[in-house]
Amino acid sequence: MGRLDGKIAVITGGARGLGLCMAETFVREGALVITVDRSGNDHPSERIIGYRLDVSDAKGCEEFCKEIIAKYGHIDILINNAGITRDALINKMTDEMWDSVLAVNLKAAFNLCRWIGPHMMEKGSGSIINISSVVGEFGNIGQVNYSASKSALFGFSKSLAKELARKGAQVRCNAVAPGYTMTDMLKTVPQDLLDKFAKQTMLGRLGQPQDIANACLFLASDESSYITGQVISVNGGMRL
Ligand code: NAD
Repeated sequence: MGRLDGKIAVITGGARGLGLCMAETFVREGALVITVDRSGNDHPSERIIGYRLDVSDAKGCEEFCKEIIAKYGHIDILINNAGITRDALINKMTDEMWDSVLAVNLKAAFNLCRWIGPHMMEKGSGSIINISSVVGEFGNIGQVNYSASKSALFGFSKSLAKELARKGAQVRCNAVAPGYTMTDMLKTVPQDLLDKFAKQTMLGRLGQPQDIANACLFLASDESSYITGQVISVNGGMRL
């Protein structure tokens, strides 16, 4: 028996990296997964259905949510995982850099939760997980836009948890804050900096996508049925 048998999960940014690892993990536990990505999103597994969508497109998100609910009848898990970086010191940061990061990392969660949250309330259960970052907890030079978007997800998740649990619905909303984890997102970070980040963790290593997917699996499953409105740091005990 899988821990997500019969569940339908929507995972944004599921074409690669953390989102893809979550999708594969969830399928192994019995879920049907719908991945949403703005680029190449074909999967060999019949249990992972790829949708092409830019999650910063509010109208596109509305149509997507309505289509999925009509087609499959229910959405049990939503992971707002799609994220981008556009790094620069604040004096060099353009409006486009600020706006695009806030649109994908923050507004997209609103674009989807405003439809999927009420749907979950109506059916009485569900789990929403917003992927934040260690940078949202501690800040980072060159990332005022990224850290602002990721910190904002803490308040967003806590407020939404309160809203969705009204009227007795067992709908939960939590944030996961991954530490530095080996995906394409870190490809541009110089090795000496990655080594430094690894040393700043208690466990002395960077994260692997599976480390983050395991935490999300726990929060998506009924094993975490009494956890809502929380921020779970998955960062090897990072000290910054
Ligand atoms: P990644 O760049 O490997 O993958 C991100 C995915 O999101 C890509 O498939 C991309 O196409 C998709 N995406 C980007 N913009 C999109 C949009 N507008 N619409 C739809 N899809 C879009 O990144 P990752 O490392 O897998 O990161 C996943 C999440 O985890 C992000 O929110 C990121 O901020 C967060 N995070 C990552 C790390 C890390 O070290 N990798 C650390 C902390 C937090």
